[in-house]
Amino acid sequence: MAIKTGCLFIISAPSGAGKTSLVKALLKKDSRISLSISYTSRPQRTGETNGCDYHFVDEEAFRRMQARGEFMESAEVYGNLYGTSQKWINDTIASGQDILLEIDCQGAKQVRRFFAHAIGIFILPPSNIVLEERLIARDQDTAEVIRKRLAAAREEVSHVNEFDYVIINDELEKAVNDIVSIVNAERLKREKQIIKYQALIAQLTRNCNSSNP
Ligand code: 5GP
Repeated sequence: MAIKTGCLFIISAPSGAGKTSLVKALLKKDSRISLSISYTSRPQRTGETNGCDYHFVDEEAFRRMQARGEFMESAEVYGNLYGTSQKWINDTIASGQDILLEIDCQGAKQVRRFFAHAIGIFILPPSNIVLEERLIARDQDTAEVIRKRLAAAREEVSHVNEFDYVIINDELEKAVNDIVSIVNAERLKREKQIIKYQALIAQLTRNCNSSNP
């Protein structure tokens, strides 16, 4: 019998690195991963759905949740508050489902305090020029906000050493294959497999011992 222990993946990137497209493609390919839906005080953008892209709450409600200790991690990013539900993470991981957190480096650091074995994946754009082009093409921010995001990207990239894996998102298809490989390899790691399949290993060991007295 398998014991239920899910993997916890953290994916971080400077904005414009293409993290959201990559995450969507991964979730489409892999039904064993659940994406944590963060709470945020940021205003909802056109095309976003409450409860699907984020749980949109006002700042006051966010602060109340924070005071009640409902977040595993929380951070201010570009002037807005973001947080990950502690209860959702605990319930989902206990059910054996793998979890993906799409959060910034500040949040990643906080999560590692609870889950030392969380697997960090950092996404980099292929160049500064591509990063800027992607931010402009999104048509989501003013020139001033794009300038701030580019400055923040430099700071964000300086945290690359805190992550276990680095993917260069030049071609989406290749980057998707890279992330799928990481997820599959992590699931097969010995320390996870021997916990998950301890009953099987015990049984196989017994059989082995009895046939080789
Ligand atoms: P956006 O508002 O553009 O969707 O996200 C802005 C930044 O906030 C991104 O870097 C994203 O990864 C980060 N973010 C989203 N949700 C969370 C969260 O729950 N916690 C933290 N720490 N960062 C988050």
